[in-house]
Amino acid sequence: MKIDVSPSDMYSLLSDSHRVAFWFKRCPECSALSFPPGLPSCAACGLSLDAVPNQAHEAPCILREFVTLHVPLVPGIATPVVLGDIEIAPGVVRQGVLAVDSEAQLTLGQQVEPVFSPGDGVTSARCVFRPMQGYSTNA
Ligand SMILES: [Zn+2]
Repeated sequence: MKIDVSPSDMYSLLSDSHRVAFWFKRCPECSALSFPPGLPSCAACGLSLDAVPNQAHEAPCILREFVTLHVPLVPGIATPVVLGDIEIAPGVVRQGVLAVDSEAQLTLGQQVEPVFSPGDGVTSARCVFRPMQGYSTNA
């Protein structure tokens, strides 16, 4: 099944017009969060989520894995680039681009926050993740 999701269906800009809050649906049966919110049913138990309203969830997100990609395998993403598995909400892990110069700036379990990147003609506009300032690591 193909699910059409545009970025505006997945996140919205916060009042600073830079940071991002993701949209989720919380299952009324099992309390699991589903992302993206356009999914027709709960990812955990299968209950229909048609009547469930979206809810926002803001940072922090937790960096679970990361790797530097040197080969341009993904259209719109210039290499080298650091990609990560990021827990964007409890139990919801998605892959994303990390806005860092190198892996040396990262630690597993580190808190990161999603921000909007407008793109620069080489890379596409998208949500990227940057290390949160003023927070220590959280394994
Ligand atoms: Zn459920």
